[in-house]
Amino acid sequence: MFKLSKKIQSLPPYLFLEIDKAKRKARAEGRDIIDLGIGDPDQPTPKYIIEALYQASQDPANHRYALDQGMPALRRAIAGWYKRRFNVGLDPETEILPLIGSKEGIAHFPLAFINNADYALVPDPSYPPYKGGVILAGGRPYLMPLVAQNEFLPDLKKIPVGIRKKAKLMFINYPNNPTSATAQKSFYQDVIKFCAKNKTILVSDLAYSEMAYDGYKPSSALEIPGAKDTVIEFHSLSKTYNMTGWRIGWACGNAQLISALAKVKSNIDSGIFSALQLAGIAALEGPQGHVSSMCNLYQGRRNALIKGLNSLGWEVRPPQATFYVWIRIPEKYDSIKFAAVLLEKADIVATPGLGFGKYGQGYIRMALTVPEERIKEAVARLKKIF
Ligand SMILES: *Cc1c(COP(=O)(O)O)cnc(C)c1O
Repeated sequence: MFKLSKKIQSLPPYLFLEIDKAKRKARAEGRDIIDLGIGDPDQPTPKYIIEALYQASQDPANHRYALDQGMPALRRAIAGWYKRRFNVGLDPETEILPLIGSKEGIAHFPLAFINNADYALVPDPSYPPYKGGVILAGGRPYLMPLVAQNEFLPDLKKIPVGIRKKAKLMFINYPNNPTSATAQKSFYQDVIKFCAKNKTILVSDLAYSEMAYDGYKPSSALEIPGAKDTVIEFHSLSKTYNMTGWRIGWACGNAQLISALAKVKSNIDSGIFSALQLAGIAALEGPQGHVSSMCNLYQGRRNALIKGLNSLGWEVRPPQATFYVWIRIPEKYDSIKFAAVLLEKADIVATPGLGFGKYGQGYIRMALTVPEERIKEAVARLKKIF
C-alpha cells in the first residue's frame, strides 16, 4: 500500500529471520537449545556500576534532558581511560563524543560525509550497521573481502584506483566481528597511509579491544603517529563491562569528524540519560579486576570449543580476541543450510556467515556466551552427527 523508500529497499535482507523463527519454534516445543548465536555477554554488569546508576537515578537533577555532547566529566573519564590504556591523548572538549551505544554513532556517521552515490569501503563479512549506515545515507558500499588467505584483513592493493579517489570513508574493525581476526600496528600504519593519500576518513570500530587472550593486548588506530588527521574511532562499554542493554559508547579522534557527528546527532537525539553517564564514569574509573576475570572465563570456553571442534577433525584456530569462533563448514553446505541442520539435528544455534555478507558464505559463527559445560555438551552433540 505504501511504497518503501529506495534506501530501505536497498538494505541487505535480514538473513537471521529464518533462524530466529526456527529457534523460537524449537524453544516453544520445549527442546533444550544451546544458543551460540548471540554476541551478547551472559554475565551481569559489575555491581559497582549498577550501584552508581542507582545512586545517580535518585537525584532529580539527572531526570532532565542531558547535554547533547555528554557530560564534561564523562568525556574526561573517557580521555583518562584512553590515556591509561593506549597512551593516546584526547582533548575532552573537541575529540570525544559520547553515544547512545556505538552502533547508533556508527550508523549515523555516514550522514555527515556521504553525498549521493559516494562510495564507502566496507569489509565483508562485517557488522551490519557499516553497510546499513552507508546505504541509509544514500551512499554505495564498495566491498573489501575479508578472506582466510589474507588473515581476514582487507587487501588494499585490490581496491581499484577509481574507487579509491571516490571513497569518502573506510570501515575497519579489529579485533573483528565476525571473524575474530586481529590486526598488528603495521596494518594500522598501512591503512592510515592509504586513507591519508586518498583523503578517505578511517572509521575504526574498537568494541572488542578488552576481550583478548593469551596475553595479547589489542592496539588502537589512534596510537599511530598522525592518525588524528584521518581517524574516528568508536568504542563502547557494552562488551568490556557487560552493558549491552544500557546503551552507552563513544566516538573519539579527529575533531572535525567528531563535531560533524555531533551535528548529525543534535538533529536526531537528545543525549544519554545523565544517571547512565555517571554510571559510565564509575565503570571507566572503578576497579577493573573483572576485565581479566571476564577474559579468563571466555578463554576457558574458547579452549573447550576449539579442543572439541579439533577433535571432530575441524581445523579451527583459537581466536586471540573477541568471543567469536569463525568456523569453516564442509564444502557441500551453504551456511544458512548448515545452521538449519545444527538446529534441527543438534538443538544448537549458530549464526550463518552469509548474514554478515556474501564473503561470509562457507562459514558459521559461534559465540562463547554460554557456560563451559554447555559448550562441552554442544561438542558432544556435534560428535553424534558429524
Ligand atoms: C557489539 C559490537 C559493537 C558495540 O555496539 P554497542 O552499540 O556499543 O552496544 C560495536 N561493533 C561491533 C562490531 C560489535 O560487535
